[in-house]
Amino acid sequence: MGPSSRFRNGPIGKLNHFLTITLIEWIGNFYRRVCGNRSSATCDRLCVYFMEEKNPVLLIVYLTLLTGSILLFFLTAWPHFPGHYLSQVHMYLVPIVIFFTYASFFTACMSDPGQITRENVIKACKMFDYDFLIFEPRECKTCLFLKPARSKHCSLCKMCVAKCDHHCSWINNCVGLKNHRYFLLFLYATVQICFYGAYLIYYIFWGIAKKMNLSDAWITSIQTGIRVRISTYQAALFLIHQERVLGALGIFALLVGLVIFIFFCYQLSLVYNGTTANEAFKWEELEEIIISGELWVFEKDTEEESKKRKKKNKSKEISEVKGKTTAVYWIQPAKRRKNVSSEGESEAIGENSKQIGRQVKSISEVRNIYDKGLWGNFKEALSPPSL
Ligand SMILES: [Zn+2]
Ligand SMILES: [Zn+2]
Repeated sequence: MGPSSRFRNGPIGKLNHFLTITLIEWIGNFYRRVCGNRSSATCDRLCVYFMEEKNPVLLIVYLTLLTGSILLFFLTAWPHFPGHYLSQVHMYLVPIVIFFTYASFFTACMSDPGQITRENVIKACKMFDYDFLIFEPRECKTCLFLKPARSKHCSLCKMCVAKCDHHCSWINNCVGLKNHRYFLLFLYATVQICFYGAYLIYYIFWGIAKKMNLSDAWITSIQTGIRVRISTYQAALFLIHQERVLGALGIFALLVGLVIFIFFCYQLSLVYNGTTANEAFKWEELEEIIISGELWVFEKDTEEESKKRKKKNKSKEISEVKGKTTAVYWIQPAKRRKNVSSEGESEAIGENSKQIGRQVKSISEVRNIYDKGLWGNFKEALSPPSL
């Protein structure tokens, strides 16, 4: 199904399209112009490698940025420990935070996301019911077995993943049923090291300002020649100018921390709502189908209940009848809508049952059967059932 048009046309979708398609095409065209068409085959192979194959490029980028930032921190910030505002405790905390970040990263990289094999496919199928809204029984054309509900075939990892969230190129691994907790831990650890680093650098600057007695500093205005007390803004600029690398590192840590914090909150909201990133796109698609009036719900009406209902006034509201029928929902594709009369009610004849159809007008009318409530959802993410 893939990302919905709302996602594709939104700012994140456009940025994603620019980074993953347009930018790569620009680089490819530039490369062809500079190196000639001879090299274009190499260029195309590289593009396929970066975009369509499982590769450790972003994983190496992450490790380089993390390790580079840590080395810079030890070179520029460590000499200021312990400082006026930073006690000796931080000298023990910093190595622990660094170790925790690397450990959570490698755990997320190397953990099994919940690979579905011929051995465990039956167990995986029993784990979640099909809701016939966003998941229905379908065979995986690559693995050649029934795709369990909530699973997805990852074309990069070349396997079906149980309760698949997404393929994360930063860890070069899929995020699924079994490693979602490690992925959340990795996000938390990265946010923590970024914010902790920014916090330490902020107080190092305060310590330098205190040492230099900047609060009592005076400057002479070039225009007027009058001596005035230095403002906080001027003091901050002066300090960043004095410690440029440290200042840049602090700003970088803060910005990266903010971006990952937003993504971490998004991931937590998905868990809270009992869904995954893969399913969130499917829900958006479903909402678009509802808005365009193409989703119909058919509730199974058994023979006995059908007779009872017919005795009563047929013009009754469907919502009244709904409570007396078994609550089984069916998605009817648009081509079968001819069964539905202008009143929005139909009698489509099934084998042992008759169905009453009505158009779904809002996403709130459909229930997410995978939502087990706040506690249940977090329990499933942090302590998943064995596969
Ligand atoms: Zn598959
Ligand atoms: Zn994958």
